[in-house]
Amino acid sequence: MNMGRCYNFSAGPANLPLEVLEKAQNELVDYRRSGMSVMEMSHRGKDYTEIHQNAQQHLRKLMDIPPEYQILFVQGGASSQFAAVPLNLFSENGQADYVNTGAWSKKAIAEAKRYGKVKVIASSEDTTFNYIPELSPEMFSKDADYVHITSNNTIYGTCYPNLPEVGSVPLVCDMSSDILSKPYDVSKFGLIYAGAQKNIGPAGLTIIIVREDLTGHAKDFTPTMLNYQTHANNNSMFNTPPCFIIYMAGLVFEWMLENGGLSAMEQRNRQKAGMLYQYLDQSDLFRATVNGADRSIMNIPFVTGDGELDKKFIAEAEAINLKTLKGHRTVGGMRASIYNAFPLEGVEKLVNFMSDFEKKN
Ligand SMILES: *Cc1c(COP(=O)(O)O)cnc(C)c1O
Repeated sequence: MNMGRCYNFSAGPANLPLEVLEKAQNELVDYRRSGMSVMEMSHRGKDYTEIHQNAQQHLRKLMDIPPEYQILFVQGGASSQFAAVPLNLFSENGQADYVNTGAWSKKAIAEAKRYGKVKVIASSEDTTFNYIPELSPEMFSKDADYVHITSNNTIYGTCYPNLPEVGSVPLVCDMSSDILSKPYDVSKFGLIYAGAQKNIGPAGLTIIIVREDLTGHAKDFTPTMLNYQTHANNNSMFNTPPCFIIYMAGLVFEWMLENGGLSAMEQRNRQKAGMLYQYLDQSDLFRATVNGADRSIMNIPFVTGDGELDKKFIAEAEAINLKTLKGHRTVGGMRASIYNAFPLEGVEKLVNFMSDFEKKN
């Protein structure tokens, strides 16, 4: 651990592996004897082309992405995909099923409604989204163009324990906050999208993994930059890509491959999350806001039940370098986001501090 660095529990942008930051630092002003930084080089040149292709190949390898799926690097955040998905996937009389599991799902629903019929087939809004609704196959509309889910709910700390059985309808997933946290079977999805700033790299890159047959049907009025075909036809180089962010993401992919790939990431993530949940479940002062199989291993909200005490806890934690633990305003309390790059010793330090705090309060 670098002396100046804190344990950063931020939900996003989130901490990056120290090895990756140091590698980027070493290569910053003169990338591999090119005489320039990655930030300064042509996106059509040899060095950047290699960075771009390696990042795609490493992601394909990490997630075991089948050949009939394309990887697109775009901008605009996951939030732009809330519009791009319906614009690209809605048929003439567009309709889709959405599951409402939190603030991000709601935004996706609101945007899709602008372009077609949206059926919200299940919601957990009744109890501040602290669970994932049961989804049985008969709940899905047979004639929907797609089903949309949010696999991990960053704000509320829930995650699908199993993927829903949607039959032949394409499953579309906002995977922004748990992509690469564990192996997912990509062939179960029609389309996956994710903003980079949770588990991949700095903000500014959005990753789309889309089955080939789902591109090329966008509505006529779809902006060129939101049309998947534009990026698929041009290897994500239709215009200037976010070169430096893709370079950083590529370093993160390499770091994951060097550290055992996604099953090793999952094992580490379960160990970290397990340690915190185990403490929370026996604590008389703190409690997790989510119970059972729907618990996220990436974002763990918890509360004392006393707003003043929560504030005191957050302030004292800050003072010992446990930073960005404040919960989302809609949930209150605290939230520990512990993505792939978050070290185990940071969770140990948090649990020890919580235990001390509990004794004193
Ligand atoms: C952070 C987040 C978003 C928003 O991503 P942007 O890249 O900021 O648009 C959307 N969905 C989920 C699940 C998120 O965690």
